Amino acid sequence: MGTASVWSPSLSSDGESALRSPEQQADDILQSLRGRRLMVLLDYDGTLSPIAPRPEDAVLPPAMRIVLDELSGRWNTAVISGRALADVRDMVGVDGIVYAGNHGLEIEGPAGTGISRSLGEAYVQDVAEASAELQSELESVEGSLVEDKQFSLSVHYRLVASADVRRVEAAVDTAIKRHPRLRKRHGKKVFELRPDLDWDKGRAVTWLLEVVNQRETEALPIYIGDDDTDEDAFRALENAGIGVLVSEEDRPTAATHRLSDTDGVRRFLARLAEGAVA
Ligand SMILES: [Mg+2]
Repeated sequence: MGTASVWSPSLSSDGESALRSPEQQADDILQSLRGRRLMVLLDYDGTLSPIAPRPEDAVLPPAMRIVLDELSGRWNTAVISGRALADVRDMVGVDGIVYAGNHGLEIEGPAGTGISRSLGEAYVQDVAEASAELQSELESVEGSLVEDKQFSLSVHYRLVASADVRRVEAAVDTAIKRHPRLRKRHGKKVFELRPDLDWDKGRAVTWLLEVVNQRETEALPIYIGDDDTDEDAFRALENAGIGVLVSEEDRPTAATHRLSDTDGVRRFLARLAEGAVA
């Protein structure tokens, strides 16, 4: 075994399939801090909460809430979700965390921090119209769910029969043609229609980091996520921090580390919350 470092892969040296434990990976990172602070940035669905058939059912496990409470007491913590800001804040329900919704188009820090940002207000009308059109277009597609999130919209198809998924995507493509100020993005069993802005989770992470670093000493950022949109954040941190992919299997990613599931995330965060290792 070589010397453990933050930049070492999350796999153990004795086999490709054996992931190092969440605690070992967290300890390596804590050891590398040498007095620096951590800034912990987290996706929600599939990262903090197991993915559920319906978005409203993806509730935060109580044990995860306890860990997040401890973590945010120790390090700057942010949750960055594709959900609307109010929605993800309700789902997590922990004070003292920065919340970012709509893939970072809306950002709010805890009371008194003055952290606040809102982009995409100019697109509310486009989103509302596309949402109404898709609702009526997809009414006949059983299991489809159109979610208007004000600054973007999601078309969920997790419960749609596989033979009907093409119809869902065709309807989304038609909506994009009608509303060229929106663009399509593909997530896990969901199509996202978002403002055609140069802004994503990576840009939001970079912005948040700058805000926090201006106020305190420079932090080591660590971003944890499971989906394609999280790759924007992994890439943003490629040379400046740590990306942790949540995935059972190895797959192409800009992340440097991997945890297999939300339970691994909980164990990893619990260790980070304990702070510096002896
Ligand atoms: Mg996710």
